[in-house]
Amino acid sequence: MRWISTRHASPPVTFREALFQGLAPDGGLYLPERIEPMPASTIAALHGEALSTVGSAVAAHLIENEIPRTALEQIIARALDFPVPLVPVGQAHALELFHGPTFAFKDVGARTMARFMAHFVAPGDHFTVLVATSGDTGSAVAQAFAGLPGTRVVVLFPDGQVSPVQEAQFTTLGGNVNAVAVQGTFDDCQALVKQAFADTDVRQRAGLTSANSINVGRLLPQIFYYAWASIATTQVVALRGHSDAARSDSLAIPGRSTFSVPSGNFGNLTAGLIARRLGFPIDHFIAATNVNDVVPEYLASGRYVPRPSVRTVANAMDVGAPSNFERMRALYGDDVEQLRKDVRGVAFDDAAVKRAIADVAARHGYVLDPHSAIAWLGLEERPGIFLATAHPAKFREVVEPAIGREVELPAPLRDALNRARHVRRVPARYPDLRDRIL
Ligand SMILES: *Cc1c(COP(=O)(O)O)cnc(C)c1O
Repeated sequence: MRWISTRHASPPVTFREALFQGLAPDGGLYLPERIEPMPASTIAALHGEALSTVGSAVAAHLIENEIPRTALEQIIARALDFPVPLVPVGQAHALELFHGPTFAFKDVGARTMARFMAHFVAPGDHFTVLVATSGDTGSAVAQAFAGLPGTRVVVLFPDGQVSPVQEAQFTTLGGNVNAVAVQGTFDDCQALVKQAFADTDVRQRAGLTSANSINVGRLLPQIFYYAWASIATTQVVALRGHSDAARSDSLAIPGRSTFSVPSGNFGNLTAGLIARRLGFPIDHFIAATNVNDVVPEYLASGRYVPRPSVRTVANAMDVGAPSNFERMRALYGDDVEQLRKDVRGVAFDDAAVKRAIADVAARHGYVLDPHSAIAWLGLEERPGIFLATAHPAKFREVVEPAIGREVELPAPLRDALNRARHVRRVPARYPDLRDRIL
């Protein structure tokens, strides 16, 4: 399978090239050249299988033989080595994506991308992942690459401006993870990363690569859990032994899932759209946002008007110009009518989020974090699957006042706070960073 840019102005590439390039040379985002449905018999045979098995089948369909099947299975099983349970909450199900090392759904994408990259490094060779973070991305990426042979991570963060738990998650790993505290702001960190990537000498000598959220290595594994959850919640009756046609009929009968997706950059939702196109039993999606609602507005008006983001209690979704919107648009040939058939947009303000956290704890004894609360609200009391993207303990300052009691910090996060930090401090000047990288 070749991968093509959404802007069609740079040549198709292999999965490996797309993985290490991140953004296409023409500024577009990579998508598979073709997204053909998987045979209904293949999907039916996956019923009852584990997430990593379903994931391997999906990945093999999209990557084809660029990675041998056994290696693919190993990459995915090792990346997704934490539970991803479906938990009943009232008439709905929470798909809990937050049981990885940093307790947020970014672990799914980052861990799989890291192992895809490590797969392609030749023995004795190495590369360096350079990432600027305001908190969460840095911890997910650092944890994902920690200890992987042939890889090194340099995490830049604004000194003193990330939360203690976040800082502990990427400064206590040591080994191949280098935490660099920049004496400046997050914008300074991002500017330094840009300078490093523009420096051909450093780029080549260190084997610099990025690990940002538009990377195909992060998009691909996010397809897996929609595929898995859609068949896990669909009752498929006595399919084996039927023809393909009969199977696809039977699959359609017991109902298809609705997914409510708490969205910021829309990478998560885009992966869902691909899962549906692959033939998994999914009815439609709800694009649930906070007040940064440019995509729900686009769905309503047909006009896309990006704007500066506004701060909310669901801050991982404070995005005013979603990076993956370009992929969504490309998947639907820029036809808002078609997109509306598959995606409904809704937005909620902070007051609604806090009420939902209180209400769901009181009625169902289930504690939502602010992002998952937006996904829950998106279902509007109808049955369906809402994606729970962060552990409530990561947002204690919002959750605890709403539910009127404490949320316990998971043991790994508590332990990280007590471990020794490994941090280098550098001024916000490129020559200092350059020395550190080399
Ligand atoms: C990143 C993130 C989101 C939004 O996902 P996108 O793919 O950017 O739409 C939602 N919730 C949490 C907790 C996140 O970290």
